[in-house]
Amino acid sequence: MNAPAIDEWMMRHALMLARRGLGRTWPNPSVGAVIWRMEGDHPFIVGRGYTQPGGRPHAETEAIAMAGEAARGASMAVTLEPCAHHGKTPPCAEAIIRAGITRIVSAMNDPDPRVDGGGHAILLSAGIAVVTGVLAAEARGVNLGFIHKIVDHRPLITLKLAQTADGYAGVTGRQLMVSSVGSKQRVHLARANHDAIMVGIGTVLADNPDLTCRLPGMMQFSPVRIVIDTHLSTPMNSRLVETCATVPTWIIIGPNVSEKSVELMREKGVLIERVSLNKSGHIHLPDALRLLAEKGITRILSEGGPLLAEALVEQDLVDSVEIYTSPDRLGREGVLAVRPHLREKIENQRHFSKAEPVAIGRDRLIHYTRIK
Ligand SMILES: [Zn+2]
Repeated sequence: MNAPAIDEWMMRHALMLARRGLGRTWPNPSVGAVIWRMEGDHPFIVGRGYTQPGGRPHAETEAIAMAGEAARGASMAVTLEPCAHHGKTPPCAEAIIRAGITRIVSAMNDPDPRVDGGGHAILLSAGIAVVTGVLAAEARGVNLGFIHKIVDHRPLITLKLAQTADGYAGVTGRQLMVSSVGSKQRVHLARANHDAIMVGIGTVLADNPDLTCRLPGMMQFSPVRIVIDTHLSTPMNSRLVETCATVPTWIIIGPNVSEKSVELMREKGVLIERVSLNKSGHIHLPDALRLLAEKGITRILSEGGPLLAEALVEQDLVDSVEIYTSPDRLGREGVLAVRPHLREKIENQRHFSKAEPVAIGRDRLIHYTRIK
């Protein structure tokens, strides 16, 4: 293998490590790092790391700790530019210099204005060889939540929809079980790799959901649960409120809710945030998302219901859409999973690119990705 091929191979490995941390490193990005040495023509990995839960230690220091003395004279692949600013810990760029690493392969610049090329510059000025832009497109996908938080002041939004073969989400007031066991497991995995799950108040009232990750051994990966609830109608005895001590529950309300009801909810341990309303009297979603980004959230999975999904698509706030379709028909009037004009927008190749359908048990999953 020649050097560029080895660099790509190591970056692929680092990206795989970075994906492991997704959903658990906010407000920081989930980064992966691999350190290797050449023995003749053969690369040997001596250190690997990814951003730890809560956002630190960073991937680079994890990998350096594993490599120890073997890092001296070695190369490192890292999925995002090493940090250059002094936060709670010294910057990774300095740790890399101290460890004696002589070559850095980096996927992309950190869009954070406190870094943005500064990390690479520190390494170069210390005489370290720096190769940038390796697997940049893939790295952008992994870092997208963080990029949106920094650049667009909103988190990444994944929209999950489930429908019957004839296009219904369920019947009024009740969501039908339209997805198989395999689909449910995949949704729970998606919950784990997002920082937060967001639903509208309609879904809370209709389903009284838990919105946790219930895959075996992954309960602690449950993300923050966010309800968009203009008038604070979430019941005190709902599961989201009753379990907010174990899994955080945040409710976004409008300006007209009485301070007394807010206080009662806060006493239960729910975090309440007020934002403005739009002209139609609903929560101003861009304001709500800006607030969530300011609180550090980088990746949101929106799970319902149809009204919130529509508002997000209409306002161009959705980065990817996952539609699960069951082979069974509802066979009568129900609530459409996506109304026709929005389905047109999702299917419009100028807005979203459509992947080949994937079979999950009896269901079919189609993934749409926003085109910039
Ligand atoms: Zn760092």
